[in-house]
Amino acid sequence: MTIYTSPYPSVEIRNESVFTHQFRTRFNDFPSDKAAFIDAATGFTITRGQLKDYGLSLGWGLRQELPRLGGVQLSRGDVMMIFSPNSITWPVMYYGGIAAGLRMTLANSAYTPKELHHQWVDSGAKAVFVHPSLVDTALEMFKTLNLDLTEARRRIVVADWPSPPTDSTYIRISDILGKGQLQEEEKFDGDLANETALLCYSSGTTGNPKGVMTTHRNIIALLAMCNTGYPDLKEKNPVMLGVLPLYHIFGATKLLQFPYTRGIPVVIMQKFDVVGMCKSVEKYGVSQCLVVPPICLALLHHPAVAKYNLKTLKFLMSGAAPLGAPLVKGLQDRMKSLGVNVFVGQGYGLTETSPTSHCIPAQDSLRKVGTIGPLFPNLEARLVIEDVEDAKEGEAGELWIRGPTIMKGYLNNPEATKNAITPDGWFKTGDIAIRDSEGFYSIVDRRKELIKYKGFQVPPAELESLLLQHPDIADCAVIGVNSEEEATELPRAYVVHAKGIPPSEQAAFGVSVQEWVKSRVARHKQLRGGVVVIDAIPKSAAGKILRRELRERAKKEPLPA
Ligand code: AMP
Repeated sequence: MTIYTSPYPSVEIRNESVFTHQFRTRFNDFPSDKAAFIDAATGFTITRGQLKDYGLSLGWGLRQELPRLGGVQLSRGDVMMIFSPNSITWPVMYYGGIAAGLRMTLANSAYTPKELHHQWVDSGAKAVFVHPSLVDTALEMFKTLNLDLTEARRRIVVADWPSPPTDSTYIRISDILGKGQLQEEEKFDGDLANETALLCYSSGTTGNPKGVMTTHRNIIALLAMCNTGYPDLKEKNPVMLGVLPLYHIFGATKLLQFPYTRGIPVVIMQKFDVVGMCKSVEKYGVSQCLVVPPICLALLHHPAVAKYNLKTLKFLMSGAAPLGAPLVKGLQDRMKSLGVNVFVGQGYGLTETSPTSHCIPAQDSLRKVGTIGPLFPNLEARLVIEDVEDAKEGEAGELWIRGPTIMKGYLNNPEATKNAITPDGWFKTGDIAIRDSEGFYSIVDRRKELIKYKGFQVPPAELESLLLQHPDIADCAVIGVNSEEEATELPRAYVVHAKGIPPSEQAAFGVSVQEWVKSRVARHKQLRGGVVVIDAIPKSAAGKILRRELRERAKKEPLPA
């Protein structure tokens, strides 16, 4: 067996709750009155010390005040959902829940009621923090669960704070925050650190989204590993821009934690738009930003970029999807022409690996452009062909990873867990990688069926089961097609018409299916790669969709205009 180790020395990992880690163990590393989170739109700031108080106070509110006001009784280990776009309330909800000993499940704020329903039921959530703009979606979801309004009221906590409380028939954060304070957070010391802290959803290699059990120890391990594996630019006053969604593991384990472990204030944007991003960089002197490739593309091409002073920007770290060398070089050149010396790096990881396992060091960003860098400390890797043999030096194989950031497993899904993690602890990423002689890895292909649109997961199985509910579709398969122009994959469906359809009507039928899907799924799952009518879906003798064949076919077909 060929096992690759990290070039970095291993780091110590503490066994405690994420709350204890941030607000006790690492708390004195930086001043308590230093800004932790800043609302990009309003400038409203929460300091490191204030967040500790808010966390303990909301933790108390969730356990004591919520039931007193008619809400559900929450106990240690119960699951609470956050259903909200990015906001300054996020860190308060997150740390309040963790202080109360709850497991937090983070839902995509673009979800439809049906998509939310899956995560609610699967995670066994008992209550949900809901952004005021999403209350109706949550109510629709409760309707599909046959929970009446009274029952829904017991489970919803409207995330109004720090905006002034609005009239609401629901319990609001402002009703339960500041009414009392936990003496101390729920402890997860020793072995208890292996209990679940987060449940983000990932489809893994196949099937529907599954609850990824990320433990307290997983998160603390990642933070410790970041201290050596993640580029340190030794800046005097680093400021990070939080444009990535906090409900994705990338945001949840970095943006929500860096003010504590790295002393970096995070400016939170509700969502990405290139002008807003440039304005925030200029206004707050942003020096670092975690991004995805389409954001790099927008910075490369958008004319507004030249209108702002971005000179403080030193570092863009891209993840969640492949970032090509031409884009990195183009962006660095454009920035240079604007007087901005920025290093564009790339990291790699999965929800299941908490997430980062590889990252490119600053000094190698151009020399090793296109790679994902070396393995993080404390991790081991293998490159395996067809689950059996090790790839030879320089050959491609499926990347397997072992170490303290590997999830505990998929919630209530021992079968999927068994398929993902070998008995000796190797997690199978489903990505095909090559390792060069200097230990830098490149992702060259994907073995799993997952599609990623602009960094968001699109599980083909979900779209396929939806398409099969269409009255005129007899069979289907969904794959990802590459769009260089948008620096992302686009989901494309191949469908078999139930009664057959002449070629002259196929294009119109495809468009009608695209529209039909649009109203039934979150934005990122729309069939932007088009719908193609075919006679039969290629399948193996065992009935498995031959996605590779479809991917080859797709290379010869145009993308929709
Ligand atoms: P998620 O769990 O949503 O973070 O998705 C994880 C998947 O995103 C990985 O298995 C990869 O397929 C893909 N991914 C993440 N980072 C990169 C990267 N830098 N290059 C290529 N693919 C990536």
